[in-house]
Amino acid sequence: MRIPHPLLLLAVLGAGPVSAQSLSSREQRIRTQVAAGFDDAVALLERAVNTSSGTFNVAGVRAVGQIFRQQFDAMGFATRWVELPAAMKRAGHLVAEWNGPRANPGAKRLLLIGHLDTVFEGEGTRFARRDTVARGAGTADMKGGDVAIVAALKALKQAGVLDEMRIIVVMTGDEESAGRPLSVARTALIEAARKSDVALAFEGGSAASATIARRGASGWVLTVTGRQAHSSGIFRNETGFGAVFEAARILDEFRVQLSKQPYLTFNPGTIVGGTDVVYDSEAVKGSAAGKTNIIAKQVVVQGDLRFLTPGQLDSARAVMREIVAANLPGTTAVISFDDGYPGMPPTDGGRAVLRVFDQVSQDLGYPAIEALPPEQRGAGDISFVAGIVDGLDGLGVAGFGSHAPEEGVYLPSLKMAAERAALLMLRLSTPRPIP
Ligand SMILES: [Zn+2]
Repeated sequence: MRIPHPLLLLAVLGAGPVSAQSLSSREQRIRTQVAAGFDDAVALLERAVNTSSGTFNVAGVRAVGQIFRQQFDAMGFATRWVELPAAMKRAGHLVAEWNGPRANPGAKRLLLIGHLDTVFEGEGTRFARRDTVARGAGTADMKGGDVAIVAALKALKQAGVLDEMRIIVVMTGDEESAGRPLSVARTALIEAARKSDVALAFEGGSAASATIARRGASGWVLTVTGRQAHSSGIFRNETGFGAVFEAARILDEFRVQLSKQPYLTFNPGTIVGGTDVVYDSEAVKGSAAGKTNIIAKQVVVQGDLRFLTPGQLDSARAVMREIVAANLPGTTAVISFDDGYPGMPPTDGGRAVLRVFDQVSQDLGYPAIEALPPEQRGAGDISFVAGIVDGLDGLGVAGFGSHAPEEGVYLPSLKMAAERAALLMLRLSTPRPIP
């Protein structure tokens, strides 16, 4: 999932251990432990980033899973690797569970969500640090967030408070392109949510915002067919307008009719057209051949569609189907939709978690936290459990260029993320009145 445009990055970089009178002595201890573990955390991030793990690189995702599994094993978590059916062509997920022997029966059970896969991978996306910035695939989205989870838990353990907590960590192996069917791909995550009270997700964050509501995402494939004929006859009714012009009309009508609705977006990600088209919608990849003097026979367009509520999704699909059916002469078109990530509507429970997080942030001398507008946050794994537990996302690191080869992270934000996450987990586990 993309991180939002980072807000107040200067605040991240400038924030230091300001007066922190509101921290208890053990919270101070946790903060000290995060600082002590910072170099180890950066080293862990480097190892994770330099282990390529594009979603379809099954061996790579497993290898990154192994790196994190060792970290949880060392802390005494019960870890397991969840396999998915081979036909799904996904690596599976890492699950790590901790039941603190001194957990208060009233303590909230926490589900921590990360993901092991990245969009880009390979040479040119390796870890490269320059001062306080590190570049590389997954530095921000979200190996940085995964490392923040580990760093926070280690600090809690070293400060002697982990024993009071109950935690399940799920790091999925296919967040950037979830296997289908989704119900199978997300069984482990949903089962973990059923045993939890609050879900905390570590997608990229910023100093002053977090996510309690986000849009859902689904996909679509548009296939347009025209009559193959000599180009000199184009625009005549008997030859028709060809698949390329019809695809252009449809996409432009989508834009004209639907691009101004709040919370709704749709993006044609790929388009392939010509006389001979080969397209693989699973790999989002294709090729085309044609001639400039031949009217194109086929176009395939694949895109996404993001929405806040199921009603908005349904009505957008209806408009799109209508546009697709109003064909230019000599052409036909069909559009198919698939159900992707559900939306995450705002809830009172989510707002309450946000208030605790806001207080934690301010007590640490970091900025106050506001809810990020739902449309500024892409789809994410937490949406699958939004109907089961209260949730907060955006607890990860602040970076830039996610889903792009030049991705990077502001390393001070790794420390901030770990400190805030550790204290949030502690306060949720051992509730105290929020002033
Ligand atoms: Zn992500």
